[in-house]
Amino acid sequence: MAFEVKHVRETVTVTVCHCSQCRRTSGHLWASIHAAFDDLTFTQDSGLRWYVSSETAKRGFCAKCGSSLFYRMNGERGIGIAAGCLDVTTGLRIGKHIFVAIKADYYPTPSDAEAFEEG
Ligand SMILES: [Zn+2]
Repeated sequence: MAFEVKHVRETVTVTVCHCSQCRRTSGHLWASIHAAFDDLTFTQDSGLRWYVSSETAKRGFCAKCGSSLFYRMNGERGIGIAAGCLDVTTGLRIGKHIFVAIKADYYPTPSDAEAFEEG
């Protein structure tokens, strides 16, 4: 599974989701950047599988290695790309935390960026 992102806004930051679904998918937290789906080029996608994770979204993962890679809302032009799977992360920083109201209780509320109760 390999992909390239043609264009990412210079202002893009990492969003960290603390919801239970993202915890289960990622093993802890889902950290992703947002890009336009049309800016995503799959250089090799034979392992890419999509899992319908809810009535409103699906998640992309690699069937060969199991990595969680993408989150996409139905009908949305954009796509969430796992920050930890990017080859180059230079300059990225966490911009916000979402769904902190329902985060797990085994870690403190993050203070490194703005935290929102919901999405
Ligand atoms: Zn989430």
